Amino acid sequence: MFELNATHDPQRRSWLPSANASDTPFPIQNLPLGVFLRQGQRHVGVAIGQHIFDLTAAQHFHLFTGDAATALKSLASGQLNALMALPESFSSALREQLSGHLAVGASSQSMVSALSSTLLPELSQVEMCLPASIGDYTDFLTSEYHTERHGRFKGLKDPLPAAFKSLPIAYHGRASSIRVSGSPVVRPRGQFKDAAGATKFGPAQMMDFELELAVFVGQGNALSEPIALKDAQKHLFGYCLLNDWSAKSIQWWEQVLGPFLGKSFMSSISPWVVSSEALRPFRSKPQARGPKDPALLPYLSDPLDQSHGGLEIEVQAFIHSEKQRAEHLQAQRITTSHLKHLYWTFAQMLAHHSSNGCNMNPGDLMGSGTISGPTDDARACITEITEAGKKPLTLSSGERRTALEDGDQIILSAWAKKAGHVSIGFGDCVGTIHPSVGDTALDV
Ligand code: MN
Repeated sequence: MFELNATHDPQRRSWLPSANASDTPFPIQNLPLGVFLRQGQRHVGVAIGQHIFDLTAAQHFHLFTGDAATALKSLASGQLNALMALPESFSSALREQLSGHLAVGASSQSMVSALSSTLLPELSQVEMCLPASIGDYTDFLTSEYHTERHGRFKGLKDPLPAAFKSLPIAYHGRASSIRVSGSPVVRPRGQFKDAAGATKFGPAQMMDFELELAVFVGQGNALSEPIALKDAQKHLFGYCLLNDWSAKSIQWWEQVLGPFLGKSFMSSISPWVVSSEALRPFRSKPQARGPKDPALLPYLSDPLDQSHGGLEIEVQAFIHSEKQRAEHLQAQRITTSHLKHLYWTFAQMLAHHSSNGCNMNPGDLMGSGTISGPTDDARACITEITEAGKKPLTLSSGERRTALEDGDQIILSAWAKKAGHVSIGFGDCVGTIHPSVGDTALDV
């Protein structure tokens, strides 16, 4: 399931020079899939260096055969859902043949090169779209460090919920308000308690980001037929960054059954889907369970998941306020964390999600939850960084923050890294807070 092949070969180089730059997130070993606009039409493509290999345009040139050609045909609708619905062998065949076309020594190089204005548009020249139609979105809560800190801020006696180490906790998110990186994030209006304890309605206070990774479900399951953990990897198509924007003032007042309007106003994802196959070299043992932790129930326990269920992925968050941008200051890094801090694996999340018979569909999205680690620099939201507003964050511009302000931009990034392998990146997930819109006459 995690075997490496020629597409992972760290020696493989592309005849496209920008794909060989040491700092590119998109070397030939990555080949993430995304959707972009070309002359007003949605095209599916693969990021390679500073270019996109346009798979939709490639339909006309007989570059792919067999299962890869079938995979290519599945992309005709301009989104990834139909490819996600096929067994992994189809996207794997497409990856293998595309890697062959882009590698140094490819027999097709002169042809692809001659067609480069059609087949290889520049990444910086196109507008990206959501990669798939997302029917359902679920966000998990799998960092005990994030969960424990939030529990403490709320004054809970037991900051970690009783079930946290027995099952991956989640809430049902809102799929309709997921937007691609770069889309404006309009501050929501909502109900919250003000500092004096009065109930108010108006522009949300305590706006926050949450640094997360998310996975797209590939092949789904029929209603009442759970996905066993040993099979779960085959159903995980690929990964992207997720910013689970949160209006914590709304959330902390409304939340009884789970997050609602404090989260559903919008979530952002990065445009490129890094395939499970591309991440095979970065598999690792997941976080070890503590000696006092409850034993895993059989449906959440699998030898392969316990040896390879983790991922060597480093994640970072940056802030770039309006003032920092105006003063030409660089975006300021505020979080560096790692997927190793998650208590549950993505395969366990999927197995648990479907364990009651809930049916998952191709293109469904599951978020990891905020990827906070144990140390201060690995706190992955403003609420944690500022200890719920008690210790303001000082920016390079001299500004102070206890929450995000209008004009603040948040940039998330992620890199899979392991010695002996070429690092692959996810590209950025960017969002800027815009002032709230609405009927101010209703604000009280
Ligand atoms: Mn979240």
